[in-house]
Amino acid sequence: MRAWKLLICLAVPLLAGCLFTRKVVTLPASNALVRDQLVIHSDFRLPRHHRLVDELVARRNDVVERLRLPVSDEPIHVYLFDTPERFQAFVAQHHPDFPDRRAFFLESDTRLDVYAYWGDRVAEDLRHEVTHGYLHTMVPHLPLWLDEGLAEYFEVPRSEGGLNAPHRTMLVQAVHERNWQPDLPRLERLTAPFEMTQQDYAESWAWVHLLLDSTPQRRELLQNHLARIRMTGTALPLSQVLLAAEPQAAQHLIAHLQAL
Ligand SMILES: [Zn+2]
Repeated sequence: MRAWKLLICLAVPLLAGCLFTRKVVTLPASNALVRDQLVIHSDFRLPRHHRLVDELVARRNDVVERLRLPVSDEPIHVYLFDTPERFQAFVAQHHPDFPDRRAFFLESDTRLDVYAYWGDRVAEDLRHEVTHGYLHTMVPHLPLWLDEGLAEYFEVPRSEGGLNAPHRTMLVQAVHERNWQPDLPRLERLTAPFEMTQQDYAESWAWVHLLLDSTPQRRELLQNHLARIRMTGTALPLSQVLLAAEPQAAQHLIAHLQAL
């Protein structure tokens, strides 16, 4: 009997897994740390005042103040796996259609969940995914490019003020090589995260950085746009409002990036 089971396992090791021996990978559940909106589940003990947790908690105020949004108390569940292997095994079993990523944010009608693992880039990953969580509790139905652009803005350490240096370098280089022009209406047409390239993430960040960190008028334009979406569930594409006020916005974005 045992030999027969083993044969099945060897015959179909990766396609279907082994029905007889495959262990179900469960979510981390041994510890739960509650800090404001965040409920962090892990299978290892995380100090209550770990500096990463403190930073994630402080990020909420950054988002609220920068974007002039009201605080929510809806919980965001963060599932922190202790190793990449456990995280990948969990994703392969429960979300086999997901692409190969280090962390995820998942929204359902009743829950906001973040999945990540403890590794070299856990701080950046959690700042990014938890930002999605905060945003979705404050502004449902965000356009994809804006959701990602804001997450890329708030994923950098607080001391860097939203400057995502790898994105800035990528875009300035692309301008220099004459193979990229900013095109906000094109970004606004993207509706599936898997359609977005690294350059699309970078451009989304760049528009957010221009809007938040250049002039009070542009910041207010973004804040008003978010307020409209929050209150009515919809709004004109931001590009229509921005390009009406600044027909040369794409050139202004390039100049902004080159001056950073
Ligand atoms: Zn994201």
